[in-house]
Amino acid sequence: MSLAAGRPVIAIPGPSPVPDRVLAAAHRASPDIYGEELAELNLQVVAQLKRLAGTQANLAPYIGNGHAAWEAAGANLFNPGDQALTLTFGHFGRSWAQQMEAMGVAVERLDSGNLPVDPDRLAQRLARDTAHAIKAVMVCQIDTATGVMADIPALRDAMGDHPALLVVDAIASLGCAPMMMDDWGVDVLISASQKGMMCPPGTSFLWFSDRTAARGRTQLTTPYWDWHSRAHAEALWRFWGGTPPVQQIFALDEALRMILDEEGIFAVWARHAALARAVWAAVDAWGEGGTGIRLAVGDPAARASSVTAIILPGADALRAWVTANCGVTLGVGLGAEQPENVLRVAHMGHSNAAMILAALGAMQAGMTALGIPCGPGGLDAAARVLAEPA
Ligand SMILES: *Cc1c(COP(=O)(O)O)cnc(C)c1O
Repeated sequence: MSLAAGRPVIAIPGPSPVPDRVLAAAHRASPDIYGEELAELNLQVVAQLKRLAGTQANLAPYIGNGHAAWEAAGANLFNPGDQALTLTFGHFGRSWAQQMEAMGVAVERLDSGNLPVDPDRLAQRLARDTAHAIKAVMVCQIDTATGVMADIPALRDAMGDHPALLVVDAIASLGCAPMMMDDWGVDVLISASQKGMMCPPGTSFLWFSDRTAARGRTQLTTPYWDWHSRAHAEALWRFWGGTPPVQQIFALDEALRMILDEEGIFAVWARHAALARAVWAAVDAWGEGGTGIRLAVGDPAARASSVTAIILPGADALRAWVTANCGVTLGVGLGAEQPENVLRVAHMGHSNAAMILAALGAMQAGMTALGIPCGPGGLDAAARVLAEPA
């Protein structure tokens, strides 16, 4: 007998759960796209997106997923043959580097395996670049595959006065982990609607500093991807390079109101951090007694607040069991050495304590059913974390 009927719990790191309120806001026929109402709502969404990133600088919106935003950034930042330094510690950083290479950028990888990059290594590499050939340093704030979180202010410090731009992929972190683009000196920020922003997939965004804008267009800048014309748009269609994604604008308006004006961004960050700690506590308990269950990232300071990768012998079988029997969907072990023994639990976006306890409870039931050895007290440990005042 399966116990999976009922409301599903989706704990994959994107697309993340969309609040019913956001779906309801999007459930509207398109109004007059030449009218004032939509033009004003669009401006309000742009202003909210800047608040979310912690910037007063420029924003270019795109219809497309995160990969589209990567390509848009590349088209605006580089000439063919330009040098870029990528800091990679997981599948997403590595595939971003490949995409830039395919666009003709000379990408150098500073790979730190599945551990966060050491800022000193970055400082040493840039110190050797006395000719200032490196145009940009590219890094994922959170690599969604490994669940590693980079320390962006420390990396910015390590860059010293080297003129390279700091380009940050915050697709899995914006609206989940702290980001203060202007205060931290981030030049280009990349994100998309379907993770911390709690919206359906389909739109993505580039925020870029005035220093970046001053570099002007490159040989790779094509009219559609050109971020200057979008950031300085006046007519609604120019923001989006054509027909605006009307229903997505309604969705973004509702979701950003929930994040910024109702819960508040500091509370949103604190909620993500607490849910993450609850998952870590359960995994630590399950790992007691040499069961082989452990967190993929040892150092708590380097762990993501939006997704946790767990090394768990029998992970694939467990994922299948919790889906079939509990209605819980967990993330696959993306890019891991033994992906069948790794799974990921997302605590990203519209996710609360009950949903995390549901995912962890289903995992414990599954390990019991499948005879996967686990230490006792995992759920108690998670509950103790959630009982602490935030
Ligand atoms: C999800 C994700 C991407 C890719 O976004 P898509 O919308 O799937 O194209 C890129 N980088 C990071 C860090 C991500 O989490």
